[in-house]
Amino acid sequence: MADAGRVLVLGGGFGGVFTALRLARRAPELALTLVARDPCFVFKPLLYDLLTGEVAPEEVALPLAQVLAGSGIQLIEGEVVAIEPAARAAIVRTAAGEQRLEADALVIALGAEPAYRELPGMAAHALAAATLEDFLRLRVHLERMSARAAALGTGASASARIAGGAQVAEGGGTADAEGAGRPAEAERLRRVVICGAGPSGVEIACKVAAMELAVRPRVLLVEARGDVLPGFSEEIKHQAYLALRAAGVELRLGSPVLGADEHGIRLPGEHVPAGTVIWTAGQQPVGVVRGLSVPRSRDGRICVGATLELPGQPAVFAIGDNARCTIEGAEAPPETAQVAVQQAAVAAHNVLARLRGGTLRSYRYYPLAETLTLGRGQDVFHLLGLRLRGELGYLARRCVYLARMPSWRHRARLAVRWGGALVREAWRRAGRAVLAAAARDGAAAAGAEQGQAGAR
Ligand SMILES: Cc1cc2nc3c(=O)[nH]c(=O)nc-3n(C[C@H](O)[C@H](O)[C@H](O)COP(=O)(O)OP(=O)(O)OC[C@H]3O[C@@H](n4cnc5c(N)ncnc54)[C@H](O)[C@@H]3O)c2cc1C
Repeated sequence: MADAGRVLVLGGGFGGVFTALRLARRAPELALTLVARDPCFVFKPLLYDLLTGEVAPEEVALPLAQVLAGSGIQLIEGEVVAIEPAARAAIVRTAAGEQRLEADALVIALGAEPAYRELPGMAAHALAAATLEDFLRLRVHLERMSARAAALGTGASASARIAGGAQVAEGGGTADAEGAGRPAEAERLRRVVICGAGPSGVEIACKVAAMELAVRPRVLLVEARGDVLPGFSEEIKHQAYLALRAAGVELRLGSPVLGADEHGIRLPGEHVPAGTVIWTAGQQPVGVVRGLSVPRSRDGRICVGATLELPGQPAVFAIGDNARCTIEGAEAPPETAQVAVQQAAVAAHNVLARLRGGTLRSYRYYPLAETLTLGRGQDVFHLLGLRLRGELGYLARRCVYLARMPSWRHRARLAVRWGGALVREAWRRAGRAVLAAAARDGAAAAGAEQGQAGAR
């Protein structure tokens, strides 16, 4: 096997897994090794739906052993602690100790992590929204804050939540036995501040507003720029503004966050009390990539050209969120799963070209679908000329995610699960409609009887 070529892929996310799987399909004779820190491949675009309980953790995190089963790829569970691009090698820390892995071709796809831009208190007090663990922690935190606010007797109780988006009780319950401090504290606890109105900030804001909590959260979305969703079409932005308004999310544009403390965040000229601060306003490559002495962009990502190869390092590639691909005359692609998967295809081709001799391909960014989740079961989905929103958007988004699952096994399992959930929901709705119609008929019949009795 080793004679056919050894390929080392670092990172078990979109870039790494899709590169390794593609190589395994196209060249089963290769000795392929994938190094992953976590035992699961996390389908990050579904993380938001965890907040509202629209997906379960096992639908988002797919065991890598299952994803790679039958592919011939060797999976090493461990942390990459050093990368030696010139030697096409990496040092990996596993449960059994450290080992040095060397290969004929190397693909670096280690992704990114939150960057708090040295804002005072932000790393210590804000919650991150980047990993599965972050979202599970966030949900528990929001539930806890909400329960505490309820115990303090805020006026924005469950009844206000059920009444719908337009109703946000403002610090009611002033007749508190233990003094005037308690409603203010309850208000602080239910306040959720989200820093950054890119796709993550907007989507989290809509999902948090749609969560079923003991007390309706009061969501504030803060953005330094004058607009939401940079890089998105005007039409999608318009939909996002409408959804934010409908969800009762307060929007503060042109307002840079200055820092955070245990009581909330600091904006220019004011302190906003909050029980939850969520950071979505910046990310950087993971530490081991930031420590590399190769050309890197201002935000620390590895600079690559159109072939995704490191300059002057043949057969060493960087893709996905830890790379910045510069192509003359084209804008740098965004940090999305779509880009990582597209780059994986090019990286796999170019690895083979390097190992077997052949022409390297150039990466070109093709923006395909534009999609956002804007509440429970409410998504926008744009693909070529197709424009869907609401429940149709939700269905289309789920279909695309199914198609994007890395293995047939997961695609089939999730299709059955999601399909079943849809059918159950349709039955529930039909049942409710029948009951409502029966109640209406009953009321009409009773009214008619009364009318006749009166006439007699
Ligand atoms: C909440 C959220 C929602 C998103 N929604 C969308 C969306 O709707 N559409 C879209 O296109 N994009 C979305 N993205 C962006 C998308 O998920 C990323 O752009 C994509 O995952 C990048 O792929 P990657 O392979 O570069 O990194 P990742 O998928 O993050 O994979 C990197 C992998 O490397 C591992 N790793 C890191 N450091 C080490 C180390 N030292 N040793 C070993 N392993 C390591 C990580 O654990 C991870 O598994 C979203 C991102 C987030 C956080």
